[in-house]
Amino acid sequence: MTRPDIRRVAVLGAGNMGHGITEVAAMAGYDVTMRDIEEDLVEDGYDDIEWSLEKLAEKDRLDESVEEILGRIDTTTDLESAVSDADLVVEAAPERMDLKKDIFGDLDEFAPDGAILASNTSSLSITEMASATSRPEDVVGMHFFNPPVKMDLVEVIYGEETADETAETAYEFVESLGKTPIYVRKDVNGFVVNTVLGPFTDESAWMVSNGEATVREADAAMVHQRGYPMGPFELADLTGIDVGYHVRKEAGRPVPPITEEKVENDELGRKTGKGFYDYEDRETSETSQADGEAVDGDGVDYEPGDGEGFDTLRVEARMVNEAARLVGDDVATPEEVDTGVKLGLGFPEGICRRADKIGLDTVLDKLRTLREETGEDRFEPDDYLVELVESGRTGEDAGAGFHEYGGAGGSGPGDYRLLNYELSDDGLLEVELDRPERMNALSTDLLDEIDDLLSSVDVEDVRCVTFEGTGDRAFSAGADIGGFADVEPTDAMDVTPAFETVNDFERPVIAKVDGYCLGAGLELALACDLRIATEGSEFGSPEIGLGLIPGGGGTQRLLRLLGETRAKELVFRGNRIDAERAEEWGLINRAVPESEFEDTVSEFVDDVLEGPPIGLKVAKKVLNEGADASLDAALALESQGFGLLMSTDDVREGTAAFRDDREPEFRGE
Ligand code: NAD
Repeated sequence: MTRPDIRRVAVLGAGNMGHGITEVAAMAGYDVTMRDIEEDLVEDGYDDIEWSLEKLAEKDRLDESVEEILGRIDTTTDLESAVSDADLVVEAAPERMDLKKDIFGDLDEFAPDGAILASNTSSLSITEMASATSRPEDVVGMHFFNPPVKMDLVEVIYGEETADETAETAYEFVESLGKTPIYVRKDVNGFVVNTVLGPFTDESAWMVSNGEATVREADAAMVHQRGYPMGPFELADLTGIDVGYHVRKEAGRPVPPITEEKVENDELGRKTGKGFYDYEDRETSETSQADGEAVDGDGVDYEPGDGEGFDTLRVEARMVNEAARLVGDDVATPEEVDTGVKLGLGFPEGICRRADKIGLDTVLDKLRTLREETGEDRFEPDDYLVELVESGRTGEDAGAGFHEYGGAGGSGPGDYRLLNYELSDDGLLEVELDRPERMNALSTDLLDEIDDLLSSVDVEDVRCVTFEGTGDRAFSAGADIGGFADVEPTDAMDVTPAFETVNDFERPVIAKVDGYCLGAGLELALACDLRIATEGSEFGSPEIGLGLIPGGGGTQRLLRLLGETRAKELVFRGNRIDAERAEEWGLINRAVPESEFEDTVSEFVDDVLEGPPIGLKVAKKVLNEGADASLDAALALESQGFGLLMSTDDVREGTAAFRDDREPEFRGE
């Protein structure tokens, strides 16, 4: 059971997070009052919202006008009037417990009965904040990530006394914003995402402090060998070394000497011009670059090869240990942990999935060895990890670990990590590329999953396939180039069969493009039969900028589709073209405003679903193969196809329906 609908929202704080939360709530149709302590702070927050909305409007990412959305936002400095008629209050004031408790005390006095009282804290105890009220059952954590407009994840955190109803309403509210919530079922320090992230920087910092590795080795290895979007030290410099330092201190955990030293020297990262890397010349160098002079500043300067010999398993084993603790203590499920780190941190895959791939026995051995060698408690394996290994759930190879791997090797498609799919009774197979944190970049694993899905699905159950990207930015922004530097040329020439599998699939395949469609993403769309795009979408083959060419059939499909002139322009220059030009060039079938996108796709899909399956299969084959044959051979193919179709029941049904002036019902026989 959940509470009555939320209609009015109050956000306390107009800073980084407060103004962002106000913006997303207003975009989703809620009336929002944003409160800060001084008029100019509220005004600054409001101006930030206006600026951000205008940017989104320029990119055609809003369903309404900027004015309509702004019209739902009120601002005030008066707490009582901000919250007195609110159904939900989201507190986004500075991260200090005394301040938050004061605010929750005031909310207890002024917010209406039954209102949900949420905090956006990233590290403080929800239970303690709730203790400042007489209604702790109504208090919940609602941890948005920065910036709320872009980041898809929100952690919904239970305090000790939070009612299920409260957490469920908060969860549904997050969903109504178009974001992805995960439950954090216990009020643990760091919640889910920061708990797993902790050892990423922490363990790397211990290794550097102990002289076992260098900053550059750690960053290069984690990025170029293990695919993380940033190295641990690069990330610490970006977020501020003091931030993690204070969180650790407050949690009573030992701080690695190198981190301590940086904080003491006020070398806190980018914001002070120096942290683990030196950014001090950055500003001047950027100016001088504009003047055509040499760039002096180093900034983040590790190279792909610098990571050689770094013990990545040591860092990952500790992250897995934290994940095991969360799952074992019922704080979150493995799916939630994985969703959290993918969407909240941009990890290339969930940490539980990754652990299952590495092998949980390998992870456990590593922790035990380190515990023995160093005597450090932080390597003590969590009970749940031990339990999984002892019960034979050692990971993917064993068929189960954190996750189950039942579908593998079976008759039909199984569960995929990077793909979502749904096959409806009327034969529509909807496929989503599910790496929103990487703008759906096509990794080898993702391409293998596409290949596996279309190779193992029973084609008789399918009449039409659609491909689309998750998240709101891209169909697919390209190939996952993280591992390119280390790939053997002969391996790379062994191009994945996925593009051909899509191209040859015996049913029409439609690419639904909303956002970037670049590089390998464009090649996937080209392997589809039809392409429909929103007007804000962009297309291109940027491979040449990497010294490469399209390697998934792109050069040849572009040539056949657009002709030599335009294909060479795209491939040689590597520039993007907008949807309007793509339509004019014949690269896509339609470019439509966002508001008409789903309807247009449905019209295409419905025609295909209602069409004769065998007729469409033959049409696809004849058109695909005819394009590469001589005219005589292509005409022969066509006649063969025509002849074959004449003997089908579908043709009899089609002609009878035409005669009777009714809609045909094709059965694919
Ligand atoms: P911020 O400093 O940018 O903004 C905080 C705002 O709250 C300021 O404008 C301040 O004037 C205002 N404020 C102070 N007292 C207030 C009161 N009594 N009522 C209303 N407003 C008051 O901070 P931020 O980065 O927006 O962080 C806010 C909260 O969100 C913190 O709890 C933080 O831990 C959390 N958070 C931050 C991030 C991030 O990356 N910045 C991410 C997730 C969560």
